[in-house]
Amino acid sequence: MRIGLLADTQGSFDVEALLAYVAKEFAGVDEIWHAGDWGSADVLDGLRRLGRLVVVNGNAPSDSRYPTTIEGTIGRWRLGMVHDLGKQRARWAAGFDVVIHGHTHRFRDEVVGRTRFINPGTATRPQFGGTERSMARLAFEGELRVEKILVPKFPKRAAVS
Ligand SMILES: [Zn+2]
Repeated sequence: MRIGLLADTQGSFDVEALLAYVAKEFAGVDEIWHAGDWGSADVLDGLRRLGRLVVVNGNAPSDSRYPTTIEGTIGRWRLGMVHDLGKQRARWAAGFDVVIHGHTHRFRDEVVGRTRFINPGTATRPQFGGTERSMARLAFEGELRVEKILVPKFPKRAAVS
């Protein structure tokens, strides 16, 4: 099972240019997961055109049509996804092999206790001390492989006069 993971697609940027980059980098994945704070509906609409999309709700925007958490199993991995991990009780994360989150705008691939925490970082708006734009490719195979993908800046194009 291969997943293309991104989060925190906020700020001012060229949505179509980002989507073209995502399409290239996530070619061949089984699903695209967005860990919340998609910024504009155009982003989710565009990702949906690329394939099966799984979304957890965020705070920017917050849209209650999307779940706050998603919990499931892939192969031998018990997995949870949430946007803002700080809003969950510590024990929630401890119940999973893999926890995917966003909100910090910082890439993370870190094992704490028995849980591997993965945050793809922000694909569009470095913040909170971060300087990178990034996403991640996850492969749940013999092992869980996590690949960080740097994302260029896609400035909003000026209107052509
Ligand atoms: Zn957030």
